[in-house]
Amino acid sequence: MDRTAFDRVIASGGYISVNTGNAQDANNIPISKVDADEAFGSASCIGCGACVAACPNGSAMLFVSAKVNQLGKLPQGQPERNVRVLDMVAQMDKEGFGFCSNTGACEADCPKEISLTNIAALNRDYLKASLMDQ
Ligand code: SF4
Repeated sequence: MDRTAFDRVIASGGYISVNTGNAQDANNIPISKVDADEAFGSASCIGCGACVAACPNGSAMLFVSAKVNQLGKLPQGQPERNVRVLDMVAQMDKEGFGFCSNTGACEADCPKEISLTNIAALNRDYLKASLMDQ
């Protein structure tokens, strides 16, 4: 399977563009257990593409939402949170993926059990970022 479209979506914003330096001491940056667990869950996406293959619309929303949320839940991801979601969704659309109609086929076939709640969180972030971008 050609997954280079995924690479281009990641390159459009799925990173933190600051020097993060060496590994931090534990608890240097307080992160709640709930947020840490959710970020870790999203970060477990391996970019396999099974969600796109399973979706009747050919949507990449589960993949993109996992990559947006793995950073959006952490303090390090906040400075670029809005531009990240706008750019990654724009690149996803440019790649020609289909729209999400919440069939849930992606979640059912995902080998890493990435939850549909990631898509809901992406939609919230996207709406908020769109309104702030006016
Ligand atoms: S099926 Fe799951 S692990 Fe694979 S790309 Fe989609 S969200 Fe990521």
